[in-house]
Amino acid sequence: MNKIYLYNSLTRDKEEFVPLKNDFIGLYTCGPTVYNFAHIGNLRTYIFEDILKRVLRYNGWVVKHVMNITDVGHLTGDRDMGEDKMEKGARREGKSAWEIAEDYTRAFQKDIANLNILDPDIWCKATDTIPEQIALIRKLEDKGFTYEISDGIYFDTARVPNYAKLSHQNLDALQEGARVEKNPEKKNTTDFALWKFSPRGVQRQMEWDSPWGIGFPGWHIECSAMSAMYLPGHLDIHCGGVDHIDVHHTNEIAQSEAATGEKFFNFWMHGAFLNIQGGKKMAKSAQNFLTLDTTFIEQGIDPLVYRFAAFLTHYRKPMEYSDKAVEAARNGLQHLHNQVRQIMDLAGSPGNVDRSFKEKFLNTVNDDLNMPRAMAVVQEVLKSDLEPAAKLATVLDFDQVLGLDLDRVNQADVLPEEVRKRVEARQKARADKKWALSDQIRDELQALGYVVQDGKDGMKVFKQ
Ligand SMILES: [Zn+2]
Repeated sequence: MNKIYLYNSLTRDKEEFVPLKNDFIGLYTCGPTVYNFAHIGNLRTYIFEDILKRVLRYNGWVVKHVMNITDVGHLTGDRDMGEDKMEKGARREGKSAWEIAEDYTRAFQKDIANLNILDPDIWCKATDTIPEQIALIRKLEDKGFTYEISDGIYFDTARVPNYAKLSHQNLDALQEGARVEKNPEKKNTTDFALWKFSPRGVQRQMEWDSPWGIGFPGWHIECSAMSAMYLPGHLDIHCGGVDHIDVHHTNEIAQSEAATGEKFFNFWMHGAFLNIQGGKKMAKSAQNFLTLDTTFIEQGIDPLVYRFAAFLTHYRKPMEYSDKAVEAARNGLQHLHNQVRQIMDLAGSPGNVDRSFKEKFLNTVNDDLNMPRAMAVVQEVLKSDLEPAAKLATVLDFDQVLGLDLDRVNQADVLPEEVRKRVEARQKARADKKWALSDQIRDELQALGYVVQDGKDGMKVFKQ
C-alpha cells in the first residue's frame, strides 16, 4: 500500500497517516448548524473533507464517516453567550425551531448532493443524542471537572493540562484580553458551557430535563458524545473549518480527554477560508453571504464548477472567490468534459488503467491532498500518447477521487421521463428557432424543479 501524508493541526506537521486499528478508519466531520443555508465558504470545507474520504478509500481503506447536524445549543456569541441560533432562525422565519432544523438540514443535504459530496455513513442530530450528552456531562461532573453558575454547568479548563495543545494559543494573553461579553461568573475565560439552563420563566422550544434542571446542551458536547458513540476505538481523523480550532475543537478535546483519560482523535485536519474578492472572509453575519443556489444553480451554472474551482487551491490555503474565478473554473470544467468526451468517441469503451500514471496520481493526492497538482496529472494523461482506451480508463479511475462526473456523456439518460421528454422537445424547439416554445418548456422544467443552462455544448439541466 502507498504511504499517505496528511497535515495534522495537532502537531502542525505533515505526518504519515496510519489507521489506529486494522485497515478501518473512523472519520468525524463537524456538520452544519441548521438555522440557515450553508454559504459557499462552508461548502468549501465539505468538499475538502469529501476529497479526504475519497482519497482514503482510493487507497483501499474502509472509511466510516460520521457527520453531525447541530440542531440545538449553538449560540450566536462566542464562548456561550448570546442566543441559540436555532431559536433566532425560527423567529426570523415565523416557524418552529424544529421546522427550521428540518428545512435547513434538507437544504444542506441537497447542496452536498449537487456538489457530488458523498453522504456520510451516519448522519446524527444533536437533539437525538441528548441522553448520551447528559451521561458524558455526568462523567465529567463525577471526575470534578465541572462547576455550576447561574446560567449553567461549565467545564473548568484550568483542570486540564495543555488545554491549548490544538490552538497553540497563549492563554494568559487570552485571559487579559477577554472581551466585554465575558461572563463574570466563569472561573476562566476559556471555560465553556456543558449544559445551559432554560432562562427562568421562559419556555424554550427545545429543552430537556436533566440532573441539573431543564435546559439544553452546550454546542461542543454533542461532537464528543457522538464521535465516541459511533466510532469507538476508531478515533482516527476529525475535521472541520479552521474557525473550529480555537474554541469548538479545543473544547471537544478538553472534555473528551478529561472524561476518558485517553487521547481523543489522532489527526485533526482543517480547511481554510474562502475569501471574497479583496480578502474579506465570508460569514453569515456579513453582507457577502453567497449560497450554492444563488451563485450557481439559479445562474444556470453547473454546481460542479464550484467543486472544480475548489481543486485549484490547496485546502489549507485561503481560496479567492470572484466572478472571474468562477468563469475560469466554468471554462476549465467544460474543457475537461470536452476532452473526455472526445476520447470516449475515439475509445468507445475504457481499456486498462495506466499503472504509472495511477501511481503518480496516487502519490500526488497522498501528499496532503494536493489537488492542484492532481489536476495537472489529469491533463498529463489526457495529453499523453497513451491509447485512447487506456487514457479513458485512467481518467475515469481518477474520477473516483475527483467526483466530477467525467463519464457524463449523455445527461438525458439519467433524467426522469417527464423531464427528459421536455428536454428533447426544447432541443428540437431551439433547433427550429421556436424561441417562445423553448422559453415555455424552460418554465415547465423550472416548475418541475429543474434549471436549464444553454451553452456552447448545448443545453444542460440541473436539479434545483
Ligand atoms: Zn463539532
